[in-house]
Order: sequence, then structure tokens, then C-alpha cells
Amino acid sequence: MVAAHLSNLPKRLHCPTCLRAQSSCICQWIRPTPHAVEVVVLQHPLEVANAKGSARLLHLSLARSRLEVGEAFAAEAMQAMLADGRRTVLLYPETAGEQELGMPAPPPFDPAWLADPAQLRLVVLDGTWRKSRKMLYLNPLLQQLPRLPLRDTPPSHYLIRKAHLPDQLSTLEATTYALAQLEADQQKFMPLIAAFDGFVSQQMAQQAGHASAGT
Ligand SMILES: [Zn+2]
Repeated sequence: MVAAHLSNLPKRLHCPTCLRAQSSCICQWIRPTPHAVEVVVLQHPLEVANAKGSARLLHLSLARSRLEVGEAFAAEAMQAMLADGRRTVLLYPETAGEQELGMPAPPPFDPAWLADPAQLRLVVLDGTWRKSRKMLYLNPLLQQLPRLPLRDTPPSHYLIRKAHLPDQLSTLEATTYALAQLEADQQKFMPLIAAFDGFVSQQMAQQAGHASAGT
């Protein structure tokens, strides 16, 4: 009887797909996009509940992607994720100061790999600049991956995160532009960027709503 009574209480319902509250569901912005390069998003635990994060929307739009949450991954788990013969590249800029932290210089990216995108895997770190750098520091296997330098990316459409520099892209944008570069196809990925604009607008409207409700 008690259980039946409790089940009648109003609950905050969550969307089973995007895991957000039903009232802020972002599933309308999912754009299933065919892609050849496999994508592995390593998400910092602090990003999981971040309403402004774009990694889950990205993951839901890319069938050949996986989303793993963690900061320091067990070497065996990381090896299992990366070891299947595909060539893996890390989406991360070569930044000053890595050597001082004891990190080895990454091997160069071989442009010949671009001949067969289906044999490629892109690893993306989803976190603030500081947290993604910490993830790189804590996971030696990531340090051994060649880096993909992003070329000629347009300015970010990401207006909703504080502490976001103008030249920093959201995880969804950076990954989408990287895929466009690796697969030499801008057009295919444009609907995903357009949908991201809708997602950003929704987040801004909800922020404005919270702000006016709080006054
Ligand atoms: Zn949803």
C-alpha cells in the first residue's frame, strides 16, 4: 500500500534519452549524421550534470560514437577502447608547458591516414580547459596519441559558457569540425552545427527564465 501511495507522488520526470528534465529536454536538436570516423568522447565527471554541455547531444547525433565518463581511466579500460587496429588521433592542441609537466611530445599526425577515414578514431576530451589538460596529464595513453590540429574553424557559436575564450569551441563544434576535416566533407556536418545553434538558443532562453524568476 505504501508503495502504491508513493508512486502517486509527483516526480520530476527525466527524458530517458538526453537524461535531462522533461522540461529542458534537448532531443529535438539531435541530428543523426552519417560519419565514417569513430568518435570516443571522454567526459570529465564535472561535465555530466552541466546543462550547457554539448557532448551528449553530439553523442546522440553520431551513431559511431561512445561517451565515457571519467578523469583518470584504468590503462586496461583505455587500451580496450583504443585497441582494434584503427588509427587513433586526439583532438587536442599542442600547448606550451606540456614538457614541463613531464609529458612526452606527441607523435606527428600522418596525413596519409586521411586516405581512409573509416580506419580512423577520434578521441575528444570533454571538460574545461583545465580539466581536459588534467585528463591528458593523468592518462599516459592519451599522451602517446598524435594530435589533430584543427584548421580554419569558424568562430564559436557558443555564447552560453562563462570563461569561454572566443577561440575556444564547444565539444560539439570542435568534434564536428574535426570530422569535417578528417572526412573532407563540410556539407554533411552542417545540419549538426545548425542544430547546435538551436540548442544554444534554448539554453539562453532557460537562463533568462531562471534570471527573471530569481528577481
Ligand atoms: Zn530528451
